Amino acid sequence: KMSIPAVLAEAARIEPGKVAIVDGDRRITYEELWKQVQDFAGGLRQLGVVRGDRVAVCLPNWHEFLVAYFAIGLIGAIFIPLNTRYKQSEVAYILDNSGTGTVITAERVGEAALLDMFSALRHDLAALKKLIVARPVQELSPEEPDIVDFEKVVQSGRYAGSFPAPMQLEKDTFAILYTSGTTGMPKGAMLSHRNLVETTAVTAQLMECTPDDVFLVAVPLFHVFGMGPTALAAVICRGTQVLMESFKAATALELIERERITVHNGVPTMFVLELNHSDFARYNLSTMRTGIIAGAPCPVEVVRAIRSRMGCNICIAYGLTETSPALTITRFDDDDTDRAETVGRPMPGVEIKIVDNLYRDMGINRVGEIACRSYGVMQGYYKQPEETAQALTADGWFFTGDLGMLDERGFLRITGRRKEVVIRGGFNIYPAEVEEVLYHHPAVMEAVVIGLPDPVLGERSTACVRLKPGASVTVEELRRYCRERLADFKVPDHVEFFEEFPTTASGKIRKVAIKEMLSK
Ligand code: ATP
Repeated sequence: KMSIPAVLAEAARIEPGKVAIVDGDRRITYEELWKQVQDFAGGLRQLGVVRGDRVAVCLPNWHEFLVAYFAIGLIGAIFIPLNTRYKQSEVAYILDNSGTGTVITAERVGEAALLDMFSALRHDLAALKKLIVARPVQELSPEEPDIVDFEKVVQSGRYAGSFPAPMQLEKDTFAILYTSGTTGMPKGAMLSHRNLVETTAVTAQLMECTPDDVFLVAVPLFHVFGMGPTALAAVICRGTQVLMESFKAATALELIERERITVHNGVPTMFVLELNHSDFARYNLSTMRTGIIAGAPCPVEVVRAIRSRMGCNICIAYGLTETSPALTITRFDDDDTDRAETVGRPMPGVEIKIVDNLYRDMGINRVGEIACRSYGVMQGYYKQPEETAQALTADGWFFTGDLGMLDERGFLRITGRRKEVVIRGGFNIYPAEVEEVLYHHPAVMEAVVIGLPDPVLGERSTACVRLKPGASVTVEELRRYCRERLADFKVPDHVEFFEEFPTTASGKIRKVAIKEMLSK
């Protein structure tokens, strides 16, 4: 039982000289990382940050992100990760709701002028006082004492004396993670040190991670998938993590070969793009041992291809931000079918049940909402007692909003999200089932099925399809293919071809955005 900074302190004590982080040309050992974390924590304290204060981090996958992550935890302050693709109004809502006083960011990331955005926000948000800038392109103006260079904060902490050994923080809130909120405003899931450490430790153990593992950090660190079962898992097992500033299939393949990656976590789209890359066959991927594929429905074809063509013994996991995140996972000794068609069984200590609209237990082999109870379940939504009461019962059950079915051996199948079910003329269509059929078609690279309003049927289904490079197929052929394999009401009414899908920063396909595009 440990706090997040204690996990790092332990790794630095046992493996001081081991490379903890590879960030571009930089290789940082555990000893150096722990030192930087303590210095940065000291510097933050000199800036007035104390236990319980909210500190936001809006950075790409740079090592400074991880320095801030552990340092904020070391002070007992609360870590608020921000998606680097958020626009000003989204950021304003989160900073305001959380009462954040300090933001750690960069001048720009890609197109986004982050420093300008946060500077402007300081005029609207009374609580927001300090900005810390990592890797400023030119020296920051001394006339703005509240905008400081990340390295200067590290330096000022260096002389602040050594930091006391990590406090026992495991029940304290470590982070507030805002879910993008497909309906309504974002909600801030409060996760404790224990939520993240315990869930990550169990996940890493099931994946048989050891200090020899080298993790590819392809998912963003500001997302729970990046900060938990990827970055924190690497530190828990005292392995090495290789940061990708942002995901690109070619870069991922290069890094796997060059850094001898053994663990590759990612959302399905990342693996699809790698497998379909024109130079795929040129790379040596033989070091890849395992990884987690999660975050969105994982098509059977893709999972099988990762195992056969990448030689990677991938595990499917299922979870949410609110559950820190993993709830279920497929295991090495599960049979081939279970490892492709299910999301595995609950991890040790996790309870799962399927409930109906009145929250009654539906038992096995019936589709209903997935509910869970575990050490990973969040403490609640920050300052949102009503939302919290709706999602979380007094005896600890959390309702996920996802639909699924348990079989007699305890394997879970996900059939979709409650919000995304298409109801066509009174019949329920689970998009994942239709997408699965489309993925099976040799010309299809990616597919999503959405519902669009229809005056007669209520909703009609539309299949949105990206073809493999060089492949071609007609709308009629795809519909015929579906008709041979699905009940007629499930056959997509329309098919739209896409060059590219809109994705979230964590790489998930944004169904809502596709729906908006097609509704116009
Ligand atoms: P939002 O904030 O809009 O809710 P999000 O739901 O994507 O964004 P996350 O917490 O990142 O936020 O994602 C959790 C969701 O991802 C789950 O509720 C589930 O729908 C989906 N998911 C995760 N893993 C899997 C999986 N293995 N198979 C199918 N769906 C999955």
